[in-house]
Amino acid sequence: RLYQGAHFLTAAVTLQHTPEDSGREVAFAGRSNAGKSSAINALCHQKSLAKTSKTPGRTQQLIFFELDETRRLVDLPGYGYAKVPERIKRDWQYHLSQYLEARQSLVGLVIVMDIRHPLTDYDRQMLAWGQQAGLAMLLLLTKADKLKRGAAQAARLAVERAVRGGPTEMTVELFSAPERQGVVAVQGILDRWLGV
Ligand code: GDP
Repeated sequence: RLYQGAHFLTAAVTLQHTPEDSGREVAFAGRSNAGKSSAINALCHQKSLAKTSKTPGRTQQLIFFELDETRRLVDLPGYGYAKVPERIKRDWQYHLSQYLEARQSLVGLVIVMDIRHPLTDYDRQMLAWGQQAGLAMLLLLTKADKLKRGAAQAARLAVERAVRGGPTEMTVELFSAPERQGVVAVQGILDRWLGV
């Protein structure tokens, strides 16, 4: 399977350091601690592909994973929570928005949110940039195992209502890394975006 073969390609701080802008790639965004690394690892059936990193120096990079010769996943920096100076945050935001806007091979954006705290300021900023860039988006409500089924469904409906009516494709899915809930659904959406 495509995702099981994912491996580290390169890390980039700015657009100049990114790999050649050809083929297709899907980016993952998420506020620190939302569960983004766990979601990427679950999706790729790997334990430590995306590393949980609490160190600001590492998290400011765009991490590129290669799926095959023409397809990539990209782990975007989660600046929302990290304790770093405002100036550094603004730098990250600048590079991130540049990447989302300019990257031709970028076909979709996955925004990973803790189901208990969805649509933070960070998430709304990513949504706005994604829409500006005309990207298809998938909002992943992860840690769904932390809520009862009914509460998880209610959270999903509330997020769907909140984002309805945007100009680009928008899907909301429940996800749980330990229970592997949502893995197949997400792979299906990514397959379509990546032209598999
Ligand atoms: P990141 O900073 O967004 O990459 O977040 P991590 O993937 O490192 O996850 C942050 C914390 O949430 C860790 O302690 C994970 O074990 C936990 N976590 C992540 N995903 C889930 C999930 O689906 N269910 C539960 N119960 N915990 C999760």
